[in-house]
Amino acid sequence: MKWYQKSCWIYTLIIVFFPVGLYLLWKYSSWKKTAKVATTILVLLIAFLLLDNILGNISSETPTPQTSTIVVYITKTGSKYHRDGCRYLRSSKISVSLAEAKEAGYNPCSVCDPPQ
Ligand SMILES: [Zn+2]
Repeated sequence: MKWYQKSCWIYTLIIVFFPVGLYLLWKYSSWKKTAKVATTILVLLIAFLLLDNILGNISSETPTPQTSTIVVYITKTGSKYHRDGCRYLRSSKISVSLAEAKEAGYNPCSVCDPPQ
C-alpha cells in the first residue's frame, strides 16, 4: 500500500488540497459509495462557501467609488463642505474626498448643493 492510499493521508489531502484528496478518496478508500458521495458534496460545499467568503471580502474591501473619488472642499472654519467655485470658498479652500468630509462631520452646503 502506497502512502497516498492510506485513509489518514486522504483526509489530510482533502483538507489541504481537496481535488487531490477527493480523487484519492474515490480511487483508493474502502468507503461505501454513499459515504464518498456525501463527503464529496460536503467538501465541495465548504470549498464554495470559502471561495464565496474570500470573493465577498475582496469586493467589500474595495471602497465605493462614489464617495471616495468625489472631491469636495471644506473651509478652515465652516462646518459645511462645498463644490468647487462656491462663494464660501473665497477665504480658504481645502480639498478632501466626500467620504472624508462626511466622516469628519461636515454637512453639504445649501448654497452650492454639493454631492451627498
Ligand atoms: Zn457652498
